[in-house]
Amino acid sequence: MTKLNHLIGGEQVEPASGDFFESTNPATRQPLYLAARGDAADIELAVAAAKRTFEDPRWRDLSQTRRGHLLRRLGDLIAENAEELARMETQDNGKLLREMRGQLATLPDYYHYYAGLADKIHGDVVPTSDRTVLNYTSREPLGVVGAITPWNSPMTLTSSKLAPALCAGNTVVVKPSEYTSATLLRLGELALEAGFPPGAVNVVTGFGAEAGQALVDHRDLAKISFTGSTATGSRIAAATAGRFIGSTLELGGKSPNIVFEDANIPNAAMGVVAGIFAAAGQTCIAGSRVFAHRSVHDELLDRVSERAERIRMGDPMDEATEIGPLAFEEQRDKVAGYVDLGRSEGARVLAGGRSSDGGLGGYFYEPTILVDVDNSMRVVREEIFGPVVAIMPFDTEEEVTRLANDTEYGLAAGVWTTNLARAHRMAARLDAGTVWVNTYRAMSPMSPRQGFKTSGVGVEHGTETMKEYTRLKSVWINT
Ligand code: NAD
Repeated sequence: MTKLNHLIGGEQVEPASGDFFESTNPATRQPLYLAARGDAADIELAVAAAKRTFEDPRWRDLSQTRRGHLLRRLGDLIAENAEELARMETQDNGKLLREMRGQLATLPDYYHYYAGLADKIHGDVVPTSDRTVLNYTSREPLGVVGAITPWNSPMTLTSSKLAPALCAGNTVVVKPSEYTSATLLRLGELALEAGFPPGAVNVVTGFGAEAGQALVDHRDLAKISFTGSTATGSRIAAATAGRFIGSTLELGGKSPNIVFEDANIPNAAMGVVAGIFAAAGQTCIAGSRVFAHRSVHDELLDRVSERAERIRMGDPMDEATEIGPLAFEEQRDKVAGYVDLGRSEGARVLAGGRSSDGGLGGYFYEPTILVDVDNSMRVVREEIFGPVVAIMPFDTEEEVTRLANDTEYGLAAGVWTTNLARAHRMAARLDAGTVWVNTYRAMSPMSPRQGFKTSGVGVEHGTETMKEYTRLKSVWINT
C-alpha cells in the first residue's frame, strides 16, 4: 500500500517513530494508503523548518507583490489539478464527487482573493500633536502558524487559513485530521510547485493527541488556527492561554433553520433538506434544528420527509448519488447512537433512522427526521454531525427567536420569509455569526464569518481575517 510521508522543509520526511497508520475509504471500507504517524519529534522538525524559512531573507524580504504572484499561481495549480484533488478527497471522507467538483471549482478563489490582497497590507500614518514627530503603524507577519483542521472539508477549511497566513508573510505547519491526510499533503506539494520556498508550507500527519497536541504545545508557535469540535477547541484554548499566542477557533454548531408562515414553502423545504442532508449532515453549519410555524408545519414536514425518503444513497463517486457515507465507523455509530437516544427521550422517527452499508460495505446512515422533540432533549441540544434533523412547530416570532437562541452554539442560522422587515428583525436578533435569509450554506472567501458563543473565536475569510495573521506595530520617529 502507498506510504505517505510528512512534508517538511520541502522534503518528504519519514516519521521519526517509523510508524504509519491506515486510512480507508468509508464508502467501501477498502484500505487507501498508509500515512505517517507524526509525533513531537516530527513537529519539532516541521516548526524548525517553518521558523528557518520565516527568518530567511528570501521569504521575509520577498515583496508583497511577489507573494501575491505565488498565491495566484497556487490557485491556478489547484484549478489544473481539480479533478485529481476532488477524487482524492471523495475517497478519503466519502463526500460526493459531485459536491467535491463544486468545491474545487471555487477553491482557487481562496488563493486568488488573498493574492489580490497581498500588496494591500499596510499601516497608516497617525496624526501627532507635534509636527516634528512622525508616528506610523505597520502590519507585520506573526511567524510560524499552526493550522489544525477536521476531516469534513479538509482542503477548503485548510485553505481558509493557509491563504491569508501566506498572504501576510507567515509560514505554516498544517496538521490534517487523521482521517484525511492525502489531499493536504498534495496541497503542500502544489505550494512548492507554485514557487513557495521549502518550509513555507509543512504538513505533519497524525493523530490529535500526538502530532496535534505537540503542535499546540510548541514554544515557537506564533499562532494556532484551528477548525474542529468545540471540545477540542476548548482544550487548545486552555493549552495556549498562558502563552498569549493568537488563536482563531472555528468550532461546532447546532444551527436553527426557521420557516415562517409567509415563506415560499417549496423553496424553504428544499433549503431545509440541503441545509441538513448535504455532505450527509457532516457540516458545522448543518441546519439541524428546524422550527416551522404551526400553520405551515405539516406541509413543510410532508415535503421534507417526502424528499428525504427519495434521497439516493450510495456510491459517492456516482454522479446520480445524493447522499454518501459518513466519514468513518465511529462517526456512523455516533449518529446511530444519537437517534437511539432521541427515541429513548421520546422523539418519533418520521423518516430514516437506520444504518446501512449502502450496498458497498460502507458506513452509511439514512436521512433521518425526528419529530415530537423539544429544546430539553439532547438530540436537539448537542451537535450530531450527521443526517439527522429535528423539526418543531412554533407560534410567534418572539417564541422562535427565544427557542433558536436557546443553545450554547452560535455559528449560523437560516430564516425563510417573504416579509422584508421580519428578515431584518430576525437577522438582528439571532445570536449567530452568519444568518441566511431565503438561502442556506452560501459562503465565499470574500465574506467574513465568525462563530458566536461556543462556536468560535476570531474571524475567517474576507479582509477582516488579515488582522488575525498580522500584528500591528506603532513606530514613533522624532525628526
Ligand atoms: P476534532 O475536534 O475531533 O478534530 C479536529 C482536528 O483537531 C483534527 O485534526 C484532530 O486530529 C485535531 N485534534 C484532536 N485533538 C487534539 C488535541 N488535543 N490537540 C490538537 N489537535 C487535536 O473535530 P472533527 O471530528 O475532526 O471535526 C468535526 C467538528 O468540526 C464538528 O464539531 C464541526 O462542527 C467542526 N467544524 C467546524 C467548522 C467551522 O468553520 N466552525 C467547520 C468544519 C467543522
